Amino acid sequence: NEGTWTSGNIVKSPAKDVEIPNRLIPEHIWENMEKWPDKTAVICGITKRSFTYHQLYKNSRNLAAKLRNSLNIRDSDVICIMMPNSPDYALAILGTLQAGAEVTTVNPIYTAHEVHRQLLLSKPKLLIGIPETISVLKDALKLAKMDIPIISCRGYANNDLPDDVIAFDELANATNVDYDVLKDVSRTPSDIALLPYSSGTTGLPKGVELTNRNIVSNCVQQNSNGLRHYQDTTSTYQDATLAVLPFYHIYGLSIVLLHKLSVGVKVVTLPKFQPQSFLTTLKEQKISIFCAAPPLILFLGSNPEVKNEDLESLNVITCGAAPLPKLDIYRVLNKTKKNLAFLQLYGLTETAPLVTTLPNNSKNYVSAGVAVPNTELKIINTDEIALGPNEVGELLVRGPQVMKGYRNNPEATKQVITEDGWFRTGDIASIDEDGALTITDRVKELIKVKGYQVAPAELESILREHPDVEDAGVVGVPDSRTGEAPKAFVVVKEGSKTKAMNILNYVSERVAEFKRIKEIVFLDSLPKNPSGKLLRRILKEKYA
Ligand code: AMP
Repeated sequence: NEGTWTSGNIVKSPAKDVEIPNRLIPEHIWENMEKWPDKTAVICGITKRSFTYHQLYKNSRNLAAKLRNSLNIRDSDVICIMMPNSPDYALAILGTLQAGAEVTTVNPIYTAHEVHRQLLLSKPKLLIGIPETISVLKDALKLAKMDIPIISCRGYANNDLPDDVIAFDELANATNVDYDVLKDVSRTPSDIALLPYSSGTTGLPKGVELTNRNIVSNCVQQNSNGLRHYQDTTSTYQDATLAVLPFYHIYGLSIVLLHKLSVGVKVVTLPKFQPQSFLTTLKEQKISIFCAAPPLILFLGSNPEVKNEDLESLNVITCGAAPLPKLDIYRVLNKTKKNLAFLQLYGLTETAPLVTTLPNNSKNYVSAGVAVPNTELKIINTDEIALGPNEVGELLVRGPQVMKGYRNNPEATKQVITEDGWFRTGDIASIDEDGALTITDRVKELIKVKGYQVAPAELESILREHPDVEDAGVVGVPDSRTGEAPKAFVVVKEGSKTKAMNILNYVSERVAEFKRIKEIVFLDSLPKNPSGKLLRRILKEKYA
């Protein structure tokens, strides 16, 4: 276990440091492309529409040139993408970055109410959607009082584009493209590339500024000999990964899409999780690396339809984004006859995302893993003293993958990044003598439903907009199917006779399904500290 615990109770990666190339994300992906130009880069598991690496390169450059030339996109403009996983998603991301712009991603099932807030915060110049998300995007633009162009990729059920929408295919498949405009693009590795949203430790979702360097670092950190989960792409071998985790979230975008493209893996996209198409695609596309979140592991292990032969092509399953019950892991492993590698990943949107994992030959299924190269960990107590092996406290991370900061929010950034570069995760954890991390709890208020973020502050602000609600507090409670679910504590206005159902419906109309409140409890008052701050811990311990 060389190089794990060092002086000052700092824990380093057992893997050797790796050199971080000084380049932009697209440059990093194209770097080795001449080794696999004709291999499939992305393919849709449903429609089988696909791009080879060479086509991805060419079409994304077409798109980039058109974005500059015809749509006036300039360096550091923001482009917002709202669509399910598809091969076009890869094009849209790489085209946007090569045009010098930044990408902000939105959950394709968000309501107009949720999207409009991200539009106001991220101030995009252009939206990219599919026919199925166009009307929500238009409603969100109205709510945000914005008027910007919308580009539409191909949809699934319907392909009719409204007149006022630009066809993505016409940009990406354009001929006679003037690539010279791309010479005006001037971006450096320290410039922002991705702007996903995360509520972090507290409050409402904030724009997480991830630089090219953050993402390129996290890609090469995953290539380290000691910790990698893929095999080299050669003339006779190519891994295939299943991209069912959404690209709008950093796990899907960075680990499943961008990292895998950088090492020549075939990325098989599914627009959403449906048991039948999921199992068919696993077999049909001979998926070798499956990147999962806990609900997918629960499905594989507990669904009687899932048989050993469905899992035959798999070499590796990785699972991250939320705590994973031990039983679910063993149920999956017991179903497969072969020696399958099963590794947890731990990370956050703010760390681009990967912080810890284990090598393929590890049999430690319950640990979140050891630090990836170039990464340091430390566990501190409430007095900020660094603790020793197996002691429990808050986990801090330092490394090249830690975000630049929260967009236009220096206060929130200062709260989570210390002066000497440590990022406060808001997770409670311990690290053993060998440097293996175990996550035990969360100090931050964030709720994770199926691995997706639900910010209590967002639900509370919607609850407080209800005409009968005086005050509200939301906490996460355990849920066997989704990991956690939001539970609300509501104080109603004097004389109000409103029913719980009325309030639940009010929230449901404004948020995506996974954020819906499971249960409401009416209280006379909420526990607060002397300065009026809601004490969610007390709500949780006393009533939840
Ligand atoms: P997100 O920014 O949506 O990726 O959420 C990051 C949070 O997800 C972390 O701070 C943890 O609370 C949780 N998380 C991620 N991976 C794991 C894991 N392997 N085990 C437990 N919690 C995890």
